[in-house]
Amino acid sequence: MARRAKFHYNQETLSFEKIELTFFALVKKVAVYLFTSLCGGFIAFLIFILFLESPQEKQLKKENIHMQAQYDLLQEQMNELQSLLTDLQQRDDNLYRVIFQADPILSEVRHRQMGNDQRYQALQNMSNSKIMVDITKQMDDLKRQTYIQFKSYDELIMLAKQNEQKLLCIPAIQPIYNKDLTRVASGYGMRIDPIYRTRKMHQGMDFTAPIGTEIFATGNGIVKEAGWRQGYGKCVKINHGFGYETLYAHMHKITARVGQSVKRGDVIGEVGNTGKSTGPHLHYEVHFKGTPVNPQNYYFLDLSPEEYDIMLQLSQNAGQVFD
Ligand SMILES: [Zn+2]
Repeated sequence: MARRAKFHYNQETLSFEKIELTFFALVKKVAVYLFTSLCGGFIAFLIFILFLESPQEKQLKKENIHMQAQYDLLQEQMNELQSLLTDLQQRDDNLYRVIFQADPILSEVRHRQMGNDQRYQALQNMSNSKIMVDITKQMDDLKRQTYIQFKSYDELIMLAKQNEQKLLCIPAIQPIYNKDLTRVASGYGMRIDPIYRTRKMHQGMDFTAPIGTEIFATGNGIVKEAGWRQGYGKCVKINHGFGYETLYAHMHKITARVGQSVKRGDVIGEVGNTGKSTGPHLHYEVHFKGTPVNPQNYYFLDLSPEEYDIMLQLSQNAGQVFD
């Protein structure tokens, strides 16, 4: 097929001359043209992609930022919930379950993972699947922990009912009326002996009070001892069962008798100054399984937490032992 010839005007010869284009020259020209157009197009595309956004993209980006913020907020709330729950769990294990002598709940039980990930697979196909799976897993874990916590409280309520009798017997009030806590003279621990002036273990708590002040049984029990004992003077010992005994010493008058059944709050005698004593006071001991323990932990029916704190300070700081 004949191509249309091209001409150009030659200034020297003053005539038109035909331009001969070889096939390869033509191909080259087309290729260069195509290449430059492509490059130009590509650069324009890049600029468009990198620096310009469509309104939809802008909207999506906005929504994404908004969603991320909501997710962060949700995560924060979940963390807060988790820390509240952890607090409850720690109190449960270290306080409530200890009181009722129940074993703490193992961490593996509290945090056992769900058996399979099938329940999360449906979420995998969603956009933002990682966020959805993470949140759902955390929610499931929180739900599970809460359920176990409820179960633990149920168990404690049951134990508490069983322990009702025990709670009536365990020493749980102060042995004399001392609502304002002005009668605590000295607590349990190493103290200077008031007579020999040497450091010695003080196995009970001293309450100062005038002679004749009423002394109460601090829990239900049976009077085991009521009479004179070397050093202790006139004293009473009550067996409360469950391993607990209490001892009341230096009494002026004993009103309980051996074998008598007493209830918490019953008067068993009066404060005195008998035996090895440097002034009218009551020396009070709590024994658990035959060993003296610190009585300050056995006023829980008598003292509010604030009063208990004051009592702790008083019994630790007060140096005056009456023995
Ligand atoms: Zn004492």
